[in-house]
Amino acid sequence: MTTTLFRGVIRTGAGDTHTLAVRDGRVLALGTAALGLDADEVVELGGGLLLPAFGDGHAHPLFGGLEHFGPQVKGLTTVAEIVAEVGRWAAEHPDEEWIVGASYDPTLVPDGEFDARWLDGAVADRPVVLRAYDYHTVWCNTEALRRAGVTAETPQPRLGWIVRRPDGSALGTLREWHACDLVLDRVPGRPVDELVDALRVAGSAYASAGLTWVQDAWVEPEMVPAYVEAARRGALLFRADLAFRADPDRWRDQRAEFVTARARVAAEGGPLLSARTVKFFADGVIEGGTAAMLAPYCDAPHSCGMPVWPPAALAEAVAAFDADGFRVHIHAIGDAGVRTALDAIEAAVSTNPARDRRPVIAHVQLVDPADLDRFARLGVIANFEPLWAQLDPLQTELSIPRVGAERADRQYPMRTLVDSGAPVSFGSDWPVSSHQPLEGIQVAVTRRTFEGVPVDGWMPHERLTVDQALDAYTGGVAYQAFADDRRVLEVGSAADLVWLSADPRVVDAMELRRIVVEGTWLAGTRTH
Ligand SMILES: [Zn+2]
Repeated sequence: MTTTLFRGVIRTGAGDTHTLAVRDGRVLALGTAALGLDADEVVELGGGLLLPAFGDGHAHPLFGGLEHFGPQVKGLTTVAEIVAEVGRWAAEHPDEEWIVGASYDPTLVPDGEFDARWLDGAVADRPVVLRAYDYHTVWCNTEALRRAGVTAETPQPRLGWIVRRPDGSALGTLREWHACDLVLDRVPGRPVDELVDALRVAGSAYASAGLTWVQDAWVEPEMVPAYVEAARRGALLFRADLAFRADPDRWRDQRAEFVTARARVAAEGGPLLSARTVKFFADGVIEGGTAAMLAPYCDAPHSCGMPVWPPAALAEAVAAFDADGFRVHIHAIGDAGVRTALDAIEAAVSTNPARDRRPVIAHVQLVDPADLDRFARLGVIANFEPLWAQLDPLQTELSIPRVGAERADRQYPMRTLVDSGAPVSFGSDWPVSSHQPLEGIQVAVTRRTFEGVPVDGWMPHERLTVDQALDAYTGGVAYQAFADDRRVLEVGSAADLVWLSADPRVVDAMELRRIVVEGTWLAGTRTH
């Protein structure tokens, strides 16, 4: 058994100390009690800071890892570049029948309406399907539409939208579940080996960002074998909890499936893996006009968005999965979506026997003022993706025109909720946005873009202090994970640690994201 001693500035989450000793994956001693210990290894922190490792309260590791293996369209800034990359990748992979990639920037063309014919210019004889970075939209070529049987006669699905040309034919852009699934359901499943490789890629990305725990916020039971296999092979570099996605059309059948999958993960997933959560989508996204709103969208006065569940059905399903012992994790973005999610949780809490639940509402973009204090009252964790709280083109081009100035100026009420006493955790929604916690922390603290816009911060009263932002990305996520031994560093805590090159509390707020992650330890083992 080796003992590692850390010396320097250590932020435990309950004050600072100068020495920390780790043995057998746990914190052995802190402060002066650690000084006299015989260490096998000493880590001098220099001018840096050691703190509990970051966790990601909402992300998609498998999707993120898989992006690595298809055409590299992420970050490309023109349609021509994307099409060229798809062509290059297709030529290099002549045996891949389907060309599947992610994730392109949907703001590159007006209204995010991408034409199948642009992709046909690169690949016409094989199906191509690309996901937009919101993962609520796909862009595909004509061959993919043909294989999916999508024609001018295909009716609009209940939850989703086929964008059409004036002559009625499908343009090549499909929005939300049932439309995307018309094509995605045709894509052959990937072999387990490939999925394990994707988790390996995700693991190195997380480790290098200082993360040791992730809530995978969208798992279908067929993804479970990849996680179990990665854990078995020692290819999993992070702890993960899997959240199974409840489907409004077949959630009653899913109850038994999820219980079986949870048991399999518990039996075979090893110490890093659990599957204790069920994920619900209350609504879509504001930029797509699908988030559920209490009042109509400004640009579509007839529409209040696209709730995924009728409220009563969501409440019934949440109560049922809660009764099955699952944790509840609800995607809610519009103010009606958030209210419906809170109502469903409140109903489950009052119907089912009392227990420690820690339910999560993820994203929390727009909250009606009447609902703000319900988070604290019901003990609902508000999981924010802090990187989103900036005045970027997604806001200025897509979201603000849809919701109007009054609602726009109430988005991501992080400080309000922290001050209300609500539990708050952070996440990235990677690969929707960057998985780097320090980037999110910078935005949470400044509410400015990386270019510094606006100078005083967007809704500056919603800025967090550096400590509050660090807490949300460390102890806040550990609370969400029910990992009470990772919320602060004390004797007996799990030795999940991150070593930063500088102390964020003394760095210029606009430079926070430049702090380097020098090291990451998972249960005392260095992963980065
Ligand atoms: Zn997500």
